[in-house]
Amino acid sequence: MIKNKKITRNISAGMYVLSTYGAGCMVDTVMQISAGDPVLISVAVNKNNYTNEMIKKNKKFAISILDMDVDANIIKTFGFNSSRDMNKFAEVDTIEVDGIEVIKNCIGYMTCEVVNIIDADTHTLFIGKMVGADKFNYKKQMTYNYYQENKDDILKIELENGKTFYVCTICGYVYKGEELPEDFVCPICFASRELFEKKMK
Ligand code: FE
Repeated sequence: MIKNKKITRNISAGMYVLSTYGAGCMVDTVMQISAGDPVLISVAVNKNNYTNEMIKKNKKFAISILDMDVDANIIKTFGFNSSRDMNKFAEVDTIEVDGIEVIKNCIGYMTCEVVNIIDADTHTLFIGKMVGADKFNYKKQMTYNYYQENKDDILKIELENGKTFYVCTICGYVYKGEELPEDFVCPICFASRELFEKKMK
C-alpha cells in the first residue's frame, strides 16, 4: 500500500535542464550509470513531453546542472511551458555546445549521444554516452528536495494575501483559484488533481 507517495522527494535528486535541438525541459531524473570510459548518463522524460519526442529524433541531449542561486526565470521557462509553444532558449542566457543550447548560468553541462532507449510506461529512459562536458562554477547544486521545500521563495511567486492557490507537488506549477476543476491535470507535468497542494498566502 502506498501510504505517502511524497517519500520519493527524499530520493536524493538534482534539478537539471534537459535540452536537445529545438526543445528543453526541467528534469530531476539524471543518473550516472558509469564514470568509466565511456561515461554513461541516463535521464527519464515523460512521453507527453515535446523534449522526449525531439531526443528520439535527434539522438542527442544535453544536461545543464542548476545551482542554488538559479534564476527563477530558468525554472519557470523550462518547467512551466512547452517547447511546442515557444522558443525557450530565447528567454534565458544559453550557449551552444555540440549543436545544443545549454544554460549559461549554471554549474556546468554534459552533452550526450543516445546509445539506448528504454520504454518505462509513462516515461522513456534515455541512456547517453558523454561526448562533451564543462564546469562553469563551483556553487552548490540545487536539489529537488530543496526546491520542493522552498519553491515559493525560489520562484518568487507573487500571490495576493488571503487568496487560495494550488501548487503541483511534482513540478511546482501554480494554479490560482478557490477550487481545482474536477478533471484537472497539471498542464506542465500532467500530474493528477490529487497531487496538488492547497495553500493560502
Ligand atoms: Fe506539474
